[in-house]
Amino acid sequence: MSTQNTIAIVGRPNVGKSTLFNRLVGQRKAIMDNESGVTRDRHYGYGDWIGKNFTVIDTGGYVHNSEDIFEGEINKQVKLAIEEADVVLFMVDADAGVHGLDEEFAHVLRRYIGKKPIYLVANKADTNLRANGVGEFYSLGLGDGEIYAISSANGHGTGELLDAVVSHFDEPGVEEPESDIPRIAVVGRPNVGKSSLVNLLLGEDRSIVTDIAGTTRDSISARYNAFGNEFILVDTAGLRRKAKVSEDVEFYANMRSLRALEECDVCIVMLDASRGIEAQDVNIISLADKNRKGIVILVNKWDLVENKETNTAKDFEAKILEKIAPISYIPVIFISVLNKQRVHKAIETAIEVYHNKRRKIPTSQLNDVMLKEIEKYGPPALKGKMIRIKYATQLPTHNPVFAFFCNLPQYVQANYTRYLENRMREHFDFTGVPIGIVFRKK
Ligand code: GDP
Ligand code: GDP
Repeated sequence: MSTQNTIAIVGRPNVGKSTLFNRLVGQRKAIMDNESGVTRDRHYGYGDWIGKNFTVIDTGGYVHNSEDIFEGEINKQVKLAIEEADVVLFMVDADAGVHGLDEEFAHVLRRYIGKKPIYLVANKADTNLRANGVGEFYSLGLGDGEIYAISSANGHGTGELLDAVVSHFDEPGVEEPESDIPRIAVVGRPNVGKSSLVNLLLGEDRSIVTDIAGTTRDSISARYNAFGNEFILVDTAGLRRKAKVSEDVEFYANMRSLRALEECDVCIVMLDASRGIEAQDVNIISLADKNRKGIVILVNKWDLVENKETNTAKDFEAKILEKIAPISYIPVIFISVLNKQRVHKAIETAIEVYHNKRRKIPTSQLNDVMLKEIEKYGPPALKGKMIRIKYATQLPTHNPVFAFFCNLPQYVQANYTRYLENRMREHFDFTGVPIGIVFRKK
């Protein structure tokens, strides 16, 4: 079995896990997203060091992660790290010294000594003085007698740590997936029919399906070709197999969805027609929206709905849209995997959404159209101040974000942002795609 070179970071809240995560996965993406004013919570990313590619998991992001963290959360975080990663980084705070929760983490981690390399990482060692004072953490009984003093903030010591970590990786590992093949994930509650759909797609013509190296341990992403379109089906099925008790089923199902969501360009949210849309589905959809993923809703098991009339699908769709309001741009398709009904249409739609997501509107066209709309209905004055929008441009981000340049960006109200978004959607096809509207000072 090929190793996937996975690193997990565990530790109590506020020690600096996400700061190190961001440093390891590189800043390029973060900068791109900052430009659009979008802060993204990623818990999973790609990095590389001296010719080895690796994936990093910030386990803290997957569990309840506040100061009142409790024992169950610690167990989950550690279990997740041990199961998913080849190397575990146990992070403590050199600034704060040994904390009660560090001891609890250490207690759980010590059970796994010898099974996986566990590194003890004392973060916030911004200066040599502080780096020399990390000896007190020996009391945690981890790290094989070695403590890596680092500063995630300024990069001090992270090179030495990475040298040691990648020495465990025999293979170059997988690179961050290329972005010109759509990555499609199928998410949804247990039993809605996700695996049936995936099997149907993959089973149709196995000869053109190649298993490519998974992006995570146990995840198999299959490259598939349909209607002249290539796409990758993101599947993290392996995570489910490990669930043993029912509480874990929920946890892993949830995490599996989260990870698939982070990895994909377009997320297919599958519902069961006999159950309708539930709170958990709404959560996933708003998370996908927040993460600026393309989204398609599939209502599966349409065959189970009896006495269908002309308006049955329409009414069903209206109910869904009501529940996910104000999100209104998502296509809803009624399918039956069992009867192979509209499955092709579903995939075609997902691919269209992908193309919508990559759509670039030339500045001249954007201004032609939108300045007219702004003339028709300008931003309402606030506190007697007139707001004047001069021009608009699409930002060079991965997802469609449009900047409107004006004299008083901070005065523009949410209602007006919505007005602009609606006009944008009338003129340009962004079906299935969240778009960002930001205001900049001219
Ligand atoms: P997490 O909860 O473990 O993910 O911790 P965060 O990454 O959110 O960091 C918690 C706080 O510690 C933030 O205010 C960071 O800016 C700060 N921090 C993280 N790494 C360092 C470091 O190396 N040095 C210093 N001085 N502060 C750091
Ligand atoms: P998953 O947990 O979301 O992967 O769901 P599965 O693919 O395992 O499907 C759960 C159950 O629903 C299985 O018994 C399937 O046979 C059934 N199922 C899947 N699609 C359909 C469908 O379109 N119609 C009906 N009636 N049953 C379906």
